Amino acid sequence: MSLDPVTLLTLSVALAAAASLYFAIEWASVRESSLLCFSGGFAIITVGCVLALLRGSGLLLVGIWFANGLLISAHWLFLLGVARFTETRLSKAWYLVIAIWLAMLALPTDPLWSKIMMAVQSSMIGVITLRASFLLRPHGKSWSVGAVQLRYVLLVHGLFYFAKVASTLMPGALIDLAAFRGEIIQISLVEGAMAIMLIALSMTGSERYRREKRIARLAARDPLTALYNRRALEVRAPRLLEPVSASRPGALLLIDIDNFKLVNDLYGHTAGDRLLVTLSELIRTVLPEGALAARLGGDEFVMLLSDTSREQIVALGDELRGQFHQLAQRSFDTPAAVTLSIGATLFDHPPSSLTALIEQGDTALYQSKRGGRDSLRVVDGAAAV
Ligand code: GH3
Ligand code: MG
Repeated sequence: MSLDPVTLLTLSVALAAAASLYFAIEWASVRESSLLCFSGGFAIITVGCVLALLRGSGLLLVGIWFANGLLISAHWLFLLGVARFTETRLSKAWYLVIAIWLAMLALPTDPLWSKIMMAVQSSMIGVITLRASFLLRPHGKSWSVGAVQLRYVLLVHGLFYFAKVASTLMPGALIDLAAFRGEIIQISLVEGAMAIMLIALSMTGSERYRREKRIARLAARDPLTALYNRRALEVRAPRLLEPVSASRPGALLLIDIDNFKLVNDLYGHTAGDRLLVTLSELIRTVLPEGALAARLGGDEFVMLLSDTSREQIVALGDELRGQFHQLAQRSFDTPAAVTLSIGATLFDHPPSSLTALIEQGDTALYQSKRGGRDSLRVVDGAAAV
């Protein structure tokens, strides 16, 4: 099979239709609007390539200029898709692009105008594509491999269109749009088919990576407070605790609200939820750098610290208790005070497991509750872990 223009165009129709269908199916399951833009862009390319096949039957306006114009719309949709993906707002001026190419269909089709039309249409595709590539610049974020690939594919694709403009305007350029003859047509059809594949592959990779990261983030967080959950803490704890030694002790603080049920019973579950969120915010503010915090469940929270001391955890616990007591007292009038009990364990070598540490924290917490609540108890965990 030779790579003549008709074969290449037929191949492009198949590739673009497959990419459009693929993005539509992906969109149906994850509802990311950028996927719909890419699906629409590839659908338009499919139609454009089918129409381009008609130029062989003498339908020049539809087969050349309308088909090329559709390519502009397709790239415009890719730009919109990238803008949605990068959460950027596009200026309204970009919407004029569609009006411009439609207006250009009214131009005469003699050879001079044909060259001008071809140059303008290619420039428009070049500008749109380079803008899309520009949106994917790092901007201080670290993009996935797929997004970086997409950025460079769009950059090369955009520059290719500018090279096409330059070659079209060169005197004696080998181009006969109606008869599908000329090196430019051959090269741009090959480049087009490759661009379809590379754009589709890199965009799919980018979206998938983002989805995986989002799922991983959701799986690691408590939905109410957005603090880590127990599982996420277990994954991260070993790294934090590895350097623990006698000169750099570690500590675990187990925090439980006193008489929390009273808030739920007297003010409702939503007020209880709000208090849990308030406590999580307090924990975040007092949390030393490099330490970890998590919600274990119910009204129980945990802080895990390394390179600390008994004085530091007593000060930390007292600050947390003081601030929480004030906030709770201001919001709730309860028969018994809504305060914090904290059980802490200090250890001077890496523990065998987080569970063992939590059990020790629990012992200290129990002592605090038994001792009348609203207090901090510290147990020395060195022997038990
Ligand atoms: P204590 O002083 O002994 O700690 O008693 P308490 O009233 O604080 O109650 P306890 O710690 O034994 O139990 C926690 C309660 O928190 C039980 C449950 O009704 C409530 N709870 C658990 N999860 C949630 C939640 O997500 N939102 C709200 N509003 N309440 C919750
Ligand atoms: Mg409680």
